[in-house]
Amino acid sequence: MLYKTTIYCIFIKIILCTSLYSQQYKSTKHVNVEIYKDSVQNMKIITNNLPKEVELPLYIASTQFPELSGTKIEVKYANIKTTMACRPKSSSIFHSRNNRTYLLLLNNNKGKQKVTLFEELPIEEQIGILSHELSHICDYQNKSMLHIVFNGIGYFFHSYRRKFEHKVDMIAIGHGFGWQLYYLRDYLLNRSDIQPAYKNYIRNIYMIPETIKTKINLQY
Ligand SMILES: [Zn+2]
Repeated sequence: MLYKTTIYCIFIKIILCTSLYSQQYKSTKHVNVEIYKDSVQNMKIITNNLPKEVELPLYIASTQFPELSGTKIEVKYANIKTTMACRPKSSSIFHSRNNRTYLLLLNNNKGKQKVTLFEELPIEEQIGILSHELSHICDYQNKSMLHIVFNGIGYFFHSYRRKFEHKVDMIAIGHGFGWQLYYLRDYLLNRSDIQPAYKNYIRNIYMIPETIKTKINLQY
């Protein structure tokens, strides 16, 4: 019975995670942040080392990812090339999909390439970037350890990385965060003072604002 229930739960999670084009959630132009402030403690994702400034936007983003309820996320500051990144913790990669821990990495700008820090982003853009990272987890949850390793190798290749990141952006749009993703990319490309090389990287790898808008419009 327990075995059957576990299989059923995994099946439901896969269905929820892969229904990117089912448009369960319509993208809303603006999130009413105030209504979430008093219920942050209800966050269903289990976090470790979560900085205060990430708590509210992560909670808001997580409300539209019910399939990630019970997922463990550990937060770390790291010298990475982007504002934020997410991947399975290497020590948990051999665990079953439901028992993996994910690392949410935050840039601290101690590396050579300077980026916009998470705390410098406006709240809707913060929700946008977190919805993208939660979409990565959703994508990883559907994959075996071998598939994740294959992804890691593929990520070295530009065309593969672009396809991978566009797929993840579509998951975020499918979860109703199209506009927040749009604001994020628009902010990074048109309103931030990040280096031109990093802007080019964003344009080449991720969905640009115009494409995101087109995808949102297809939801209606
Ligand atoms: Zn990504």
